[in-house]
Amino acid sequence: MKNNNKGENTICTHEGEVVDKQFGGSVSPIFVSTSYEYINKDISRYPRYFNTPNQEALCKKISALECSESAMIFGSGMAAISTTLLAFLSSGDHILLQKDIYGGTRNLVEAQFKRYNIDYTFTDDIDLKFFKSAIKKNTKVIYIETPSNPLLKIVDIEKIAQFAKSKNITTIIDNTFATPIIQKPILFGVDVVLHSATKYFGGHSDISAGAVAGSQAHIDKIWNLAKNLGGNLSDYSVWLLERSMKTLSIRVKAQQKNAKRLAKYLSESPFVKKVYYPGLKNHPNHNLAKKQMKGFGAMISFEFIDKIDPSLFLTSLNLIKPSMSLAGVESTMLSPAETSHYLLTEKERLSQGITNELIRFSVGIENKKDIIMDIEHAIKLSIK
Ligand code: PLP
Repeated sequence: MKNNNKGENTICTHEGEVVDKQFGGSVSPIFVSTSYEYINKDISRYPRYFNTPNQEALCKKISALECSESAMIFGSGMAAISTTLLAFLSSGDHILLQKDIYGGTRNLVEAQFKRYNIDYTFTDDIDLKFFKSAIKKNTKVIYIETPSNPLLKIVDIEKIAQFAKSKNITTIIDNTFATPIIQKPILFGVDVVLHSATKYFGGHSDISAGAVAGSQAHIDKIWNLAKNLGGNLSDYSVWLLERSMKTLSIRVKAQQKNAKRLAKYLSESPFVKKVYYPGLKNHPNHNLAKKQMKGFGAMISFEFIDKIDPSLFLTSLNLIKPSMSLAGVESTMLSPAETSHYLLTEKERLSQGITNELIRFSVGIENKKDIIMDIEHAIKLSIK
């Protein structure tokens, strides 16, 4: 594990930067070559080998934030997730996944893994006992996501990682919702950390990227498959992602501060039936969230009372964008049933508690009063 004593804002701003020796510019230059000299060099650089100067620079920043030995950047979160899973699983293996995970990951497993003779199970719920009872002799990977998308369930990272270790099983976590600013799973014993860097890492809704962090041995294993599959990110986007990550810490902290206040506001609204936010004392895993997170993140989900039409509400918003994806500096809302989880059947969605009325709220950095005014205005227009 890498132990870097620098503060997080300093890591975000500077760690790994490519020094411009030629002109002394204060930001990393972009190296866009797809062809590098190899004679008398101890490394063969190539974008699909994930080792261009900008890729390496950004990986150092991600490693320092996740306290990992190494990291890799991909062209999307799903490229990072699919490559990582296939790197750790072979024909005849079994993977145990938490029930509540991003719909795209669930769909990858359900739609593709049978073709590779990889067996899988989704846990019945998130407590350790459900993981313990569902492992098999051939379980090679336990996969978790916390806080989960979209119901913000909190899984006990340390307990799961310890249990997996005792059984020689690799643990993989999707840390997209928390970010390393709020949660560092490697410090709880997790082996591999994944991100949709399209989300908070990018933070401005203009980059598609993925990231993975772990020990050098684990990253080498992923790299061995990644260089065959491709899935690397263009250096232009790598550079933009490095630029974006300079503000990761201050963005995420501002967003979660807003989210804490908005969760309270929503939970007190007479038009709201239920609020899912780990920062609320009535959240079933509030104490666990307090233990393993630094804050509670900037995602909230909620359901209106029957008197409000949720579709009309979404289209009546002015400031908050009803749009796909999440984690930009701008506030957005969506219906998970119509977007992130639409690839699941209605039965599967309902079994995960994802109703057609559920709204997922990605809280941005705007002023709280403006966000509230927008919500109140849209509620007025959507009373049935
Ligand atoms: N993980 C989580 C938690 C997500 O929300 C998403 C996308 O929404 C992904 C992974 C997939 O990332 P991408 O869309 O960058 O492939």
